[in-house]
Amino acid sequence: MKVKDKLASQFTFMFAVLLFVVLMGIYYLVGQNRQESFYTKLDDRALTMGELYLAQDNMSPESFKKVVEKYPQVLSHEVIRIYDANYQPVFIKADSVNWSKEIIKNVMERKKLHFTIGDKQVAGLYYEDNSGNFVVIASAIDDTGFQNVQRLAWIMLFSFIVSLIITFFLGRIFATIALQPISKIINDVKIIRATSLNKRLAISKYKNDEINQLSITINNLLEHLEQSFDTQRSFITYASHELRTPLTSILGNAEITLKNDREKEDYKNVLKSIVKESEKLNQLINSLFELAQANIDNSELEKIQLDEVLWEVVDEWGDKPNQVKLEYKLPQDKLKFTINGNRRLLFIAISNVLKNAIKFSNNKEVYCSLSCTDNEVVITIRDNGIGIAANEIKNIFTPFYRAPNAGGHSGTGIGLSLADKIIRLHNGIIHVDSELNKGTTFTILFPH
Ligand code: ADP
Repeated sequence: MKVKDKLASQFTFMFAVLLFVVLMGIYYLVGQNRQESFYTKLDDRALTMGELYLAQDNMSPESFKKVVEKYPQVLSHEVIRIYDANYQPVFIKADSVNWSKEIIKNVMERKKLHFTIGDKQVAGLYYEDNSGNFVVIASAIDDTGFQNVQRLAWIMLFSFIVSLIITFFLGRIFATIALQPISKIINDVKIIRATSLNKRLAISKYKNDEINQLSITINNLLEHLEQSFDTQRSFITYASHELRTPLTSILGNAEITLKNDREKEDYKNVLKSIVKESEKLNQLINSLFELAQANIDNSELEKIQLDEVLWEVVDEWGDKPNQVKLEYKLPQDKLKFTINGNRRLLFIAISNVLKNAIKFSNNKEVYCSLSCTDNEVVITIRDNGIGIAANEIKNIFTPFYRAPNAGGHSGTGIGLSLADKIIRLHNGIIHVDSELNKGTTFTILFPH
């Protein structure tokens, strides 16, 4: 079902409920009103008959005539009975309608009584007179009133159905108008492809309306997509460049050597350089593979005590005795430095940071510490090495990026981007403080 039809149906349903309640209210009030006004008419008829009865002895014929002229109306199916104080019918000829003693007594007690029997409405009046008390009971059926109410019901039903049909179609028109900007967005987004990610949706000046918010959100998403496409593109360019460099060197050396006969020693030297370049290539491919594989599968998650991982890393990479100073400032509660994670990936991430600290400080002392705050486990790795220039810091997590002062040290430029990716996979962050030629401190924070 299309959204506009759904909206129109919901709108129509709400309107139907509201209209139904209002029409029912009106119908009920009109019904009540009909009943009340018919009781008034019945009262009048009962009064007329009472007067008529009294007129026999109390009134002059002229007054009686006036009374009759005043209330000339005879009601449909009208039956009027008069009873004396002994519950006996008087004055009017007895017919098939006879009221029970109980009803007559009731009228006497209450002086005035209204009630219904089926369609028939009944009004009773009690007359107290010096010539003797009596009761008048008038009953009739409000045929005209019922017909009017019934006609009203049909009119209401007809208007109800017609209103709902009109509401549905009007609702559809309004929904179409309201959804037009969304249709425009759909059409605009349809033409955006991977090759045209630089396109943006039009934003109107009414910044706060929801449609505009939607366009802004889609534009932000496009911005991110464009950026990640660009990053991916430059990543592939860098990767192919980095892979090609050792390969070109291998090929060049091999081709030049093959052009002429060489001494045994020359062949050895060339082979050595080929091995060196191949190792570089191997290292690069391994790093790329690790970067691509660095994903957390929930089944691989386990509770990991970070003091153990840090110890393993230091044990693995601290070449000289006491080169890496390890300090723990940990609470008793082991849960405070235990996180859910992947041990192998965490080992790689911390290793990459520590290896850099050792490498870029020319094997000077490196200080590692593990501590906890209320919400986080904090690992710091500090060295007194070559440092990073302030304007380079923002780039060092980009794959293949190497700061200009890193030239004299081996590396691929992937280690930190891999560490950053792994730390983020564990909901952590890595932060760096550095001063050129003084040293660098990496701080890794994991929520516990
Ligand atoms: P690699 O170490 O292979 O060059 P990384 O991705 O690990 O690549 O690091 C990226 C760059 O960040 C390094 O080339 C270097 O310029 C800089 N860097 C990282 N760690 C340090 C450090 N401890 N001291 C100085 N520079 C560093």
